[in-house]
Amino acid sequence: MQSRGVVIIGGGLGGLCAAIALRQAGLEVAVYERAEDYWPVGAGLSLWPNAMRAFEALGLAREVAGAGASWRETVMHRWDGKVLSRLAVDALCRELGQPTVGVLRSELQQVLLRALGPDVVHLGAACTGFDVEDGGVRVTFADGQQVRGDCLIGADGLHSAVRQRLLPEVRSRYGGRTSWRGVVDVASEVIPEGSQFEIYGPGARFGICHIGRGPEGTRRMYWFLLAPAPEGGRDAEGGHREAVLSQVRGWMEPVESLVRATPESAILRTDIHYLEPLPKWGEGPVTLLGDSAHAMVTDMAQGACQAIEDALVLAKLLREDSDRVRALRTYESRRRPRTAHVSELSLKAGSIRYVRNPVARWARDLLLQTLPPSVALNQLRSVVAYDFLA
Ligand SMILES: Cc1cc2nc3c(=O)[nH]c(=O)nc-3n(C[C@H](O)[C@H](O)[C@H](O)COP(=O)(O)OP(=O)(O)OC[C@H]3O[C@@H](n4cnc5c(N)ncnc54)[C@H](O)[C@@H]3O)c2cc1C
Repeated sequence: MQSRGVVIIGGGLGGLCAAIALRQAGLEVAVYERAEDYWPVGAGLSLWPNAMRAFEALGLAREVAGAGASWRETVMHRWDGKVLSRLAVDALCRELGQPTVGVLRSELQQVLLRALGPDVVHLGAACTGFDVEDGGVRVTFADGQQVRGDCLIGADGLHSAVRQRLLPEVRSRYGGRTSWRGVVDVASEVIPEGSQFEIYGPGARFGICHIGRGPEGTRRMYWFLLAPAPEGGRDAEGGHREAVLSQVRGWMEPVESLVRATPESAILRTDIHYLEPLPKWGEGPVTLLGDSAHAMVTDMAQGACQAIEDALVLAKLLREDSDRVRALRTYESRRRPRTAHVSELSLKAGSIRYVRNPVARWARDLLLQTLPPSVALNQLRSVVAYDFLA
């Protein structure tokens, strides 16, 4: 069986970025994605300067920024409209020479697929396992087909089949809350361009940001609601919008009007899971990348940004070291502490955001009001200014 070079399982953001970076490093790459097609996914994504720096290294920063909208300021509100604090994200962006961009996931995926060109991504290919043999890897798919690779990258997300084979005992943990995400095109400005809103209410957090333009000059908005809920909860058929509205009634505008204007089909509900730091990411010619290695709660909006960093570091090390297995272990030793740190910060950030008790809420709001912006900015800087290619 002829080798496909580097075999990547999973054509999400991490897998696609890894494929682009590895090809630019001169390696042969094949991506195998379980989905039959790339459907437009109704959710947005924040790309912080660390991710934009990675896109710059890939020569894609302009296209990625052009597919979305950048923001300069995060404004935190109490549910009734009182402003609690403002975070001058633009100061940090200027310092780092990179913007912060909100983008529709499917638009970003299209930018990445165009950069890869045809024949690299194989759709409808669900990996079921692999065997290490003769210094390479034989990968098996649900339809019985097999391919051989010099090495295998498991970029297959939270429920990774590659991780399952490497670390069968590992289980993801429920973060205690669920998310609803919606995308809607609006005719007139609902929050100032360049702003991202975060709105804190009893036991819930609502976010709003611009993610570019819709048809006929409309503004494309992304919103999310995060709130504690039992694991595995489901909304009634066609009931996502009502489930969100029931939790934000009476909140400041434009919360309710945005949700009401969002088509039911453009709302997704997803439980938030994360992984404790794994005992290892790989062995021999096999490693993990992105959520399969370090799924984290969403409170720093860094999961995809970290997957993109992974991709760049992996490609750099495979280019620099002709001993593939050694390069993979070096990659893991660089990425494990970094991602564990960001994951821990994300858990900490989430620990005070969803309180329901009025006294705890009062204390949270007071903290947001009195914490000097420089403290919050410094914490953000420690994450987004990290030189992952050093
Ligand atoms: C509500 C919410 C909001 C978020 N907001 C942000 C944000 O603002 N910024 C940010 O940086 N991150 C954010 N994240 C995190 C981000 O979505 C993930 O970290 C990111 O998508 C991980 O990318 P990935 O490529 O590793 O995994 P995924 O995006 O999960 O991609 C994995 C791919 O592998 C495929 N696959 C799975 N199993 C197999 C198999 N057996 N064989 C073949 N293919 C397979 C899947 O179909 C999928 O396409 C958010 C997450 C959530 C839930």
